[in-house]
Amino acid sequence: MNENRSRWPMGKTVGGTHMLNNMIHYKAERKDFSDWFERAQDLDRFLEFFEHDLWSNVERGFTTELGTVFIDAAKSLGGIGPRKELEKLGIDTVVDLPQVGKNLQDHIGTGSELLLIENSLNLHPVDLVHPANVWNYFTSNHRQSSLSFGGCEAVGFVSLDSNYTSDLQFMVLPAGLTSDGGVHLRKILNLQDSVWDDYYEPLLRMGQPAVTVLPILLHPKSKGQIVLKSANVRDTPVIDPNYLASQDDVTVLIKGIRLLQKITQQPAARKVGLEFNPRPFPGCSMLPFDSDAYWECYVRSVTHTIYHPVGTCRMGHSALDSVVSSVDLRVHGVHNLFVADASVMPSLPSGNPNSVAMAIGEYFVRSNFPPIGMPTK
Ligand SMILES: Cc1cc2nc3c(=O)[nH]c(=O)nc-3n(C[C@H](O)[C@H](O)[C@H](O)COP(=O)(O)OP(=O)(O)OC[C@H]3O[C@@H](n4cnc5c(N)ncnc54)[C@H](O)[C@@H]3O)c2cc1C
Repeated sequence: MNENRSRWPMGKTVGGTHMLNNMIHYKAERKDFSDWFERAQDLDRFLEFFEHDLWSNVERGFTTELGTVFIDAAKSLGGIGPRKELEKLGIDTVVDLPQVGKNLQDHIGTGSELLLIENSLNLHPVDLVHPANVWNYFTSNHRQSSLSFGGCEAVGFVSLDSNYTSDLQFMVLPAGLTSDGGVHLRKILNLQDSVWDDYYEPLLRMGQPAVTVLPILLHPKSKGQIVLKSANVRDTPVIDPNYLASQDDVTVLIKGIRLLQKITQQPAARKVGLEFNPRPFPGCSMLPFDSDAYWECYVRSVTHTIYHPVGTCRMGHSALDSVVSSVDLRVHGVHNLFVADASVMPSLPSGNPNSVAMAIGEYFVRSNFPPIGMPTK
């Protein structure tokens, strides 16, 4: 990737990133949150939002959300954060909270153009904006138009005998990076031109369609951080996701690729002409193709964000190990400041986090503005 950087888009509008996401809804389980709350009654209250259909109520909530990246920057500039770091930048510390900006976690995935398919599925990004499809969307059954398609067709989960609900998620997309002719998708991934020319462009030239079944690491051991660059409010913060710092994270992703290889050998996959891309990835061709060392090189070259950053204002018990209280999401040591967004998650759920972010919004409202007659905290 250019400058080894992932792009992190954000929905800068009312409704936030939910307005641009893929709309994959994950129904979380108790196990996902087993160590999030000190008190069992708080966990029970939180889980109510998954057990009952309360989503419509969320809209009426008043929440203080800025998202995982900016909530941290805003707090630190206001003097709430790690004293040592604030002092270095000449910012007076109002409340010393060492965990502000720490514990950054994100889902990451690997494997673009790994799966080639004999026959095109005719559902690639160009189809989505084809005038005939736009016409069909408005004039006939819009549910059957490819314009109503969210980008991801199906998801699957795999457990590798850990304590989590699942360890790997697979996202099935009927397209590869080359499916839009190199116009847009390669830019989203911030791919280097040389890598594009060497690996992706030849497939495009041959008219070789690709599909994607993306292995996603659900519980990374690597943790990053967000720190202020300076005391200037106009300077963007430094985001260091620290991806793949733990070798265990690489190992899980390689397991995902190995599983994918097994999938391509299934009769149903053979029937549609699915095959593993035999071309070595640029920069990894000196390693024996298909060895674990080769796949480690591949994973370290082309793994990218799945856009689920969380954790920089984690909830917990005390100001030493967390930023907000798990009882009501109040910032430790500050009377009337709350955080209610994905940044308070102590760890990632075993699936897409938007439903969990919404549950956090509802939990905040119910904890601090309970309906009359309803018990709180
Ligand atoms: C491309 C993409 C696809 C995704 N797909 C899915 C999916 O299919 N399923 C799923 O579950 N999750 C998905 N996610 C993740 C999910 O959308 C996020 O986890 C969730 O929206 C996070 O909610 P939040 O409230 O923490 O932050 P956000 O939704 O990002 O809200 C932050 C809000 O703060 C505002 N803000 C930020 N800075 C400032 C400022 N300085 N001043 C004023 N306002 C500010 C922003 O405008 C925004 O409204 C996806 C994310 C992306 C980027």
